[in-house]
Amino acid sequence: MSDLLIYDVGGCEGCPLSILRVLPQLEERVHVSSKALGNLSLSRDYDYAVITGSACINEERVTSIIRRIREKAKVLIAYGSCASVGGITLFCRGGQRPRPEHRTFLPISSVVEVDYAIPGCPPNPTLLVNLLDSLEGEGGSRSKYFLSLFSRVAKEKKLSGFDLMDEIVLSGLCIGCGACVLSCPAHALHMVEGKPDLMPEKCIRCGTCCVRCPRFTQLLLRRPALSRGVV
Ligand code: SF4
Ligand code: SF4
Repeated sequence: MSDLLIYDVGGCEGCPLSILRVLPQLEERVHVSSKALGNLSLSRDYDYAVITGSACINEERVTSIIRRIREKAKVLIAYGSCASVGGITLFCRGGQRPRPEHRTFLPISSVVEVDYAIPGCPPNPTLLVNLLDSLEGEGGSRSKYFLSLFSRVAKEKKLSGFDLMDEIVLSGLCIGCGACVLSCPAHALHMVEGKPDLMPEKCIRCGTCCVRCPRFTQLLLRRPALSRGVV
């Protein structure tokens, strides 16, 4: 059985709590180590590590733990918007570019290479179960999609309602399905004349709308080929 480490580097605790909801399903698949279970160890190797929370790059203790987990894990998964794309913690520096005196919070991928990232505030934890199934070769026909999408998201430095507006709605790609509006945990999107509109002051930059939008996910999956001029 594979080994899975779950580690929270600091956040609201919503993501670790959401993972507890699927703990029985996880334990059917992998051996789980975490602080909540009382069996946390950073001195052994893991097949998979899940990090929740964003990286405070001013705190050496936090960045060294993230680097240590990266060394110990074959596959590193950023779980939740803070870990994946910074999320609401991006606002902790007061809307300015980082300076040494600011406590600056960034996605885990700003410190180490991340293999897969699942945004959401918190994400639906069954996404983590499905991703593990895919990694273990048990995910069926969805596996390729899951692995491709969440590895692409791990390469993104930011995803938000602003990106959804720019890349999908304002560029005319939106089909008006409303999935983004239904997925937004901050009620920052609403439909206006059949298309979503953003209330900027409500957006917490969680990126959930982007990974729920069928057009945005297509764009994410095709972006490497587009940037190489292949299509
Ligand atoms: S619009 Fe909503 S779902 Fe999209 S990034 Fe902002 S808060 Fe998250
Ligand atoms: S999910 Fe995407 S395609 Fe659907 S309404 Fe929102 S922006 Fe448009």
